[in-house]
Amino acid sequence: VFIAFEGGDGAGKTTQIERLHGWLSQQGREVVVTREPGGTPVGQQIRQLVLHGDDLAPRAEALLFAADRAHHVATVVRPALARGAVVLQDRYLDSSVAYQGAGRDLDADEVQRLSLWATQDLRPDLTVLLDVSPETGRARRGDVHDRLESESDDFHDRVRRHFLSLAEAEAHRYLVVDAALPVDEIAAIVQERVAEIVGV
Ligand code: C5P
Ligand code: MG
Repeated sequence: VFIAFEGGDGAGKTTQIERLHGWLSQQGREVVVTREPGGTPVGQQIRQLVLHGDDLAPRAEALLFAADRAHHVATVVRPALARGAVVLQDRYLDSSVAYQGAGRDLDADEVQRLSLWATQDLRPDLTVLLDVSPETGRARRGDVHDRLESESDDFHDRVRRHFLSLAEAEAHRYLVVDAALPVDEIAAIVQERVAEIVGV
């Protein structure tokens, strides 16, 4: 079972993944927690390039994220799914569509097709979208660490609206949760939905 967590910077994805990891492990499931960009050694190098490279052309940026994803899916995600593990992933293709598509004026459908080519059409069974306002996200992420986190609120607002439109278009495959809710409350909502899918 493949579960992706999406949402703006500062939405609380990492915290919620940890919570779900703990609970699924208690249920006796094998859980693989991973992330993009940077879920593999090669991906770590790509992550450095893409988050700290100067003046990266938008198409080069999109291709680097897609390269990271192709390698990660082939070497980590698919093998884990094949042995029956639950994969909890911090960001997946919606991040590319939302950030590179809405944020950078590339065609969002093209960015999506690129990702689907890179992953040979691997889609999550469930995408948990932690919906965060630019203001809350900014407050939570604190010090800015990378190129994208330092973008304007307007950029983050376009990204947010794009995430929401992706969720609306395929509502059955998404769980949208208000990231401003208390951590425990979000964890309980996520757990309830995941229980149905994983069958624990
Ligand atoms: O979530 P994490 O901090 O690891 O993401 C690193 C940065 O990369 C974030 O600022 C996010 O905005 C950006 N990102 C992106 N496109 C992706 C994945 C992440 O712009 N496909
Ligand atoms: Mg970040």
